[in-house]
Amino acid sequence: MGKRETMKIKFLGTSASEGYPALFCECENCRRARELGGRNIRTRSSVLIDDEFLIDLPPEILLKIQLLGISLSKIRILAITHTHIDHFAYTELSYRKKPFSLNELDYLNVIGSPTVIRIIRDFFKEKTNELKLNLVEVYPFEKYEINNYVIFPVKAVHITKFEDEIALNYVIQKGDKTILYGCDTGPYFDDTLNFLKRFKFDAIIFESTLCYGEWDYHMSFNDLEVFRKWLETNNILKNNGKMYVTHFSHYMCPLHEELIKIFEPKGIIPAYDFLEIEV
Ligand SMILES: [Zn+2]
Ligand SMILES: [Zn+2]
Ligand SMILES: [Zn+2]
Repeated sequence: MGKRETMKIKFLGTSASEGYPALFCECENCRRARELGGRNIRTRSSVLIDDEFLIDLPPEILLKIQLLGISLSKIRILAITHTHIDHFAYTELSYRKKPFSLNELDYLNVIGSPTVIRIIRDFFKEKTNELKLNLVEVYPFEKYEINNYVIFPVKAVHITKFEDEIALNYVIQKGDKTILYGCDTGPYFDDTLNFLKRFKFDAIIFESTLCYGEWDYHMSFNDLEVFRKWLETNNILKNNGKMYVTHFSHYMCPLHEELIKIFEPKGIIPAYDFLEIEV
């Protein structure tokens, strides 16, 4: 147990890849989301911890940061889950130098799988130093201590066009606080489940891409119910620990009010864009 700390987590976005309502879609869910607005308007998934630790870099990162009234000049860690374009707008890192940023930036530790790091390195080549990027390859179930955080990547169950890529989810600790960011993934295999048993979580943020649908590489309502029961049986959450869901697709996921009705009885909280939580 480390010293008493808090983690403030802001959900920058809570949709699946296409957005909700989706960019080119006029389906009933998208139409009603546009009509009702508010918490039904979701952009691509990402969270910001304590204004210094960002998980994933969605294409609309600039607008989300502007709307929050902050800059990303203080971020020291960027953890990338995988290379799907809704999580990996890495070219935005180009603006970390003069004249795009006029202040002196500290190094940003960019962590990701070897595939993620290779793509960023190939794109920026010798510019990574000028951009103050410290690129760190990370591997599942290893421990990384960066600034005030202890980070354990875990293996997600998710596929991309890169055969060698292992998609990652992250266990993140600060002092006595522990969270899991589980996005994107299908139901975990035993390697990850067994690894998670060594922690007690203050918050679990998990994906719910499919809702009424079913597929191996994303979570459905049924999958989440099974996972929630596994968490209970194995006592994985702290007493006051909470589970949040994010990364909703327009295709099979209903509107926010309906999500609340479905998830609340299961003790799960559907996130929405700009929801802020403190653990
Ligand atoms: Zn995604
Ligand atoms: Zn739609
Ligand atoms: Zn994905």
